[in-house]
Amino acid sequence: MLRYTCKCGLKMAWGSGMDPADCTVCPECGTTLLKTLDGEFVPPGEHDLVTKYDQNTGKPYKLCRKCMKTFKNKGADDGEAVHS
Ligand SMILES: [Zn+2]
Ligand SMILES: [Zn+2]
Repeated sequence: MLRYTCKCGLKMAWGSGMDPADCTVCPECGTTLLKTLDGEFVPPGEHDLVTKYDQNTGKPYKLCRKCMKTFKNKGADDGEAVHS
């Protein structure tokens, strides 16, 4: 099993057949969990957001199709992650 970490080690992920998304970025050091073959960190990518609606409340929220993170729907900003 592959272990992925950001530069400072705060963010961590275990590889399970799929690489971490390039939009999964450490809030501390700002790097992704991905490295190129040269050992450099891959530059952070954009979230691929789609609007979803909460099944219970009907409120819209945004979901990233790459990292599967959900965001509160508040304008152009990425917003805060509701959970990860
Ligand atoms: Zn970090
Ligand atoms: Zn994302």
